Order: sequence, then structure tokens, then C-alpha cells
Amino acid sequence: MCNRLLLLLPLVAAPVGAADDVLARVAAHAERFGAVSRQIWETPELGFHENKSAALLEQELRANGFEVRAGVANMPTGFTASYGSGSPVIVLMGEFDALPGLSQKDEPEQAAVTAGAPGHGCGHNLLGSAAALAGVAIKEELQARGLKGTIRYYGTPAEEGGGGKIYMIHAGLFRDVDAVLAWHPGDSNRVNLGSSLANNGGRFRFYGVASHAAAAPDRGRSALDGLMIMLNAVEFLREHVPQETRIHYIITNGGAAPNVVPAFAEANLVARHPDSQVLDGIFERIMNCARAGALASGTRMEFEQGTNYANTLPNDELSAVLGRAMQKAGGYEYTPAEREFAGKLQATLGAEVKRAGPEHVQVDKSEPPGVASTDAGDVSWVVPLASFTTATFVPGVGAHTWQAAACAGTSIGRKGMLVAARTLALGAMEIYENPGEAAAAREAYRKRLAGRKWTSHIPADGKPPLDYATK
Ligand SMILES: [Zn+2]
Repeated sequence: MCNRLLLLLPLVAAPVGAADDVLARVAAHAERFGAVSRQIWETPELGFHENKSAALLEQELRANGFEVRAGVANMPTGFTASYGSGSPVIVLMGEFDALPGLSQKDEPEQAAVTAGAPGHGCGHNLLGSAAALAGVAIKEELQARGLKGTIRYYGTPAEEGGGGKIYMIHAGLFRDVDAVLAWHPGDSNRVNLGSSLANNGGRFRFYGVASHAAAAPDRGRSALDGLMIMLNAVEFLREHVPQETRIHYIITNGGAAPNVVPAFAEANLVARHPDSQVLDGIFERIMNCARAGALASGTRMEFEQGTNYANTLPNDELSAVLGRAMQKAGGYEYTPAEREFAGKLQATLGAEVKRAGPEHVQVDKSEPPGVASTDAGDVSWVVPLASFTTATFVPGVGAHTWQAAACAGTSIGRKGMLVAARTLALGAMEIYENPGEAAAAREAYRKRLAGRKWTSHIPADGKPPLDYATK
């Protein structure tokens, strides 16, 4: 099957030998790490609470000869695993947090395992497991060939809002790193120079004075009024921000009863833009909307900083490495049963799917703007980073959906995970074999950075919001 697949792909000058060896090592561990991904899928855990998932990955890496440091950067589920010495130092990042409310069986119809419980709607069970699988194969290859260099796996908790990677940056864990190779589950096998959206957000809390809403409204000051004036001002603001801006919010508390003037109201708001620095300016205007709400309603407003992720700086050199790697890695084909599952799932999407199938590998130099946000973006501002997606989800299925959660528990998810592990392993080996590529990646990083510096509104006090997902 492999040979036939390779013929479908664009032909590249692929020296056989070394590449085949590391791919054989990936294949040797594929079943075990596929089972690891399934185990994590079966026990979905929210950000900073990924105790079982992190422990399982730590145990697997330790058993395969990695030196593991658990609980890094004041995060119980953050860890590093390392093998080798000297440069190049290559980091593979592993996420493993789930999303609230997305509990889902591995079936092509919406059916929760436990209603309201978390689920792996972003496929992070595959993300962390594929990176670990690649790490083990790379370690064995370095060892067998006596190559110089260090392979590390960073277990990065709470990508869905907690920003584990940002605390790892603050803790200095990326300081001696030459390159980060990252991936994310998706609905196609694709490498390009895509970015992500910067985001910034938090909770806006208004404090007023409670009073009987009919008998003594004049003595009350409504926190909900303050909040609604703020949000109306935000709606007007929408017209006067750059086109690519996204602003979304929910009201988490609007008072307790209509006959009581609300003494407390709260909204959770997130804004996004392709450029962190432009976003900072927009966010200051949102802060002014909130201040205006408090002033007009005679209430007091407090802001609690929430998620703040930078956009991703693409890296031309590393993306080229990953592009070559993915072309060698190849895509995969569905079995008849998988094809049937995919068809049923696509029928639930309510739109015709015009996407390439998982047998295709797409490598190009386009720079599509981001549609989501990730703390991998912050990492790209401090060290050369490139990333790619693989077809872990059926074409047309987007992340953060029950359809994605279903795919992440099936053989389709695990086949996509294998494409990722193969790509990561081949990409890393190319850099160990040609250490000059690490220097070229550093130069490409400097060019994109263009003298700017990474900044974050998340304080460098080393105190991750360990309860953010459950409060
Ligand atoms: Zn994700």
C-alpha cells in the first residue's frame, strides 16, 4: 500500500536509507502510542487538570529512555523529557487537554459518552501522543547512529485558554532551543506558512448597589446596566476596527432576579486580530467601553486578565524542512469502513465538502491568515517554530466540534497521528544531519521578528491560573 501511495505524491529527491530507518522506528511504536492516544481520548481532562494524560505520557517517555522533569513552571501537568546532548536542540510540543462539554462517542452521530462532560474536540489526545511517538523514534535513531544533538518533548498543558507554553517561556525553558517542530490535528495533510490569530481577553466584572427594583429603584445602581452599556459600546466599536478583527463574548452573570437591581454582573470577552500589536490598541478601546459603562451607570468595573496569545510568526526555513518531510511521510487511505464513517459524518455538516482527502499531501508557500489562536504563537516569537496539520479529522470537519471529538477516537484519527509522527521524525532527522539548517532557521526567525520583541499580558509571576477551566 505504501509504495502505491508514494506514487501519488509529488516526486522528491528522497535519499533512501536514513529516512527509512527512522520511519521503521515510528512504525515499531505506532500501535503502542495509538493506544496511548485512545486512552487519553477515553479520559478527557480539562486544562491544568490533565493528571492522568500527563502521567501516561511521562511514563511512556521515561520507559523509552528520556529523562523526565515533571511539574515544570509551577504547573503540575507541565513536564519536559530530554535525550541526548549538545546542539541542535529540537523540541516537539505535546498538548493533551480536552474541551468542556464536548463529550462524544466514536460514532458518526452526536452522542455524548457523558452529557456535559469534557471531550477531545481539538484532538489533543492525538497531538501529544504523535509528538511522543516521534520523540521516541528520533531518540532511537540518534542513539543508533551516534549523532550529536538533543531531542526534547515538552508536555504543554492547558492550550485551550490556560496558556501553559507561556509559563514555560517565562521559566526560560525555550532559551537554549534551536527549533520547535509543531503540529495540530486538522482535516488535511498540509504544510504552509500559515499564521494564527493573536487573542486577548478576560472577565469584566461590574459592581453596583442592590435594591428593590420596584419599591426603591432610585437607591440601586445596576451592575447589569454597566455591563450592557459596555457591550453596546463594543458593538458600535465593531464598525471602526480593522476588518480582520474578531470580538466575542458571553454574559456569565446578569443578576439573580428581575425584582432585584443587580449588584453584580460579569462578561467574559475575547478579541482577536492577526497582529498582536494591533490587537493591543483595539483592546485598549474595549477597556474604554468598559470604563464608560461603569461611569454611566455609577458602578465600579474590574478587569481580570484571561487568555492572551500572540499570533504565529511563520518560519520559511523550518516550513521547508517540514514540507520535504511530509512529502516523504505521505498521506493515507481509508478502509471501506472508514470511508463509510467519513461519509456519514460529512452528511452531518450541512454543507458540501470540497476538500482534499487524506491520501493527499499539500505543501506550498502560501501564508494563509490564521482562523484560531494558540499559545504555540507565543513560542514562535522566542524561538524558530514551524507547524503543520494532518488529516486526523474527516475533510470538512472543523476543530472544537463533536465531529472532531468523534474522529479523534477512531482509526482515522490514529492514521492522521501517524502522518504527523512520521513528518516530525523525518523533519527532525534532516536538521540533525544538517545542523546548518538550524542556523538558517534562526536567520529566518530574525527576519520575521524584524527587531520586535515578544510581549504578553499574562504576568511573568510564575503563577498559572490552575483553576481557569473549572471556575
Ligand atoms: Zn487545539
